[in-house]
Amino acid sequence: MYADLHLHTLYSDGTYTPEELVDYGCARGLGVMALTDHDTVDGCTLMSAACDKQGIEFIPGCEFTVELDGFELHLLGYFLDLKYERLNEQLKKYQSVRHDRIYQMVFKLNELGIEIDGDEVLNIANCNSPGRPHIARVLVEKGNCKSLDEAFQKFLKKGRPAWVPKDKMTAQEAINLIHEAGGLAVIAHPGLYHRDGVIGPLVDFGLDGIECFYTRHSTSTTEHYLMLAEQYNLLVTGGSDCHGENKGRPLIGGVKLPYQYIERMKSAVLAQNGTD
Ligand code: AMP
Ligand code: ZN
Ligand code: FE
Ligand code: FE
Repeated sequence: MYADLHLHTLYSDGTYTPEELVDYGCARGLGVMALTDHDTVDGCTLMSAACDKQGIEFIPGCEFTVELDGFELHLLGYFLDLKYERLNEQLKKYQSVRHDRIYQMVFKLNELGIEIDGDEVLNIANCNSPGRPHIARVLVEKGNCKSLDEAFQKFLKKGRPAWVPKDKMTAQEAINLIHEAGGLAVIAHPGLYHRDGVIGPLVDFGLDGIECFYTRHSTSTTEHYLMLAEQYNLLVTGGSDCHGENKGRPLIGGVKLPYQYIERMKSAVLAQNGTD
C-alpha cells in the first residue's frame, strides 16, 4: 500500500476539487492521501469524505509558508486537529495577508502598464488562500504572458518587478502551532532550497520529519535526505506536490511512499498526544 502526502486542490492553488483528486489517486492505486493546501485546511472535510467513499486513508494536512533567518521555506503539518481554534485563527490571519498581497502585486503590475485588477484575481482564485499562481493565471488568460512560468519569470518571482514580500510565521511559531494542533511538522521539498543549514535549527525547534521523496528530487537527492533523516532521527515522508494538470497529466501518485513510513508517523503522533 502506498501514500502520496503532498497534494493541492482548488482550496489553494491546485486546479482539482478534493473529489477529483481522490478519483485520480484511486486510479493510480494510492491507499493513503494527505491534503496539504497552502495556508488552509478548507478542503480537508470534503477530501476526507471522498477518501472514505473510496476506502482510502486520509491524513489532514497543510503546507505552511514560514521564515527562518530571512529565508522562506515550506513546512508540512500532518494529522492536524481541524477544530483546533488557534490553528484556524492563525490560518485566517495569513490568508488575509495573502489577500492584501494580491492587491499589492496587482498595483505593481498596473504601474508596469498591465491592466488587471485585484478583484479579477480573487474571482479566479475563488478560495480563502489566493497566491501568485492565481495572478499568473489572469496574466495568461488576458494574453499578457504565454505561460504560468513566463508570468513567474517576468513578474512574480522573488526580485522580479511585481514581487512583494509576504509576512510569514516564523518556523518556530509554525512548528509550535502544528504540535499544539496535535500534528507532525515536516520540512517540504528540502532539495529545492539548497540550504541544508536550516535543518539543524528546525530540529532544535522540534521538527518531526523530512520530505525525502519528492517529484523534483533526483535519486541522489532523495538518498541524501534519507541519510539526514537517519542522522537526526527524523520521520521520512514523501509526496508529488500535485497542483492539477501538469503537461497533460496530474503528478498525483508519481511519488509512492511505502506504508511503513505512515506507520512510523502514526506511532509518532500517538507518542506525542497519547499520554497527556
Ligand atoms: P505564493 O504562495 O503566492 O508565494 O506562491 C507560491 C506558489 O507558486 C508555489 O507554491 C508554487 O505552487 C507556485 N509556483 C512557484 N513558481 C512557479 C512557476 N515558475 N510556475 C508555476 N507555479 C509556480
Ligand atoms: Zn502551490
Ligand atoms: Fe511548497
Ligand atoms: Fe506544495
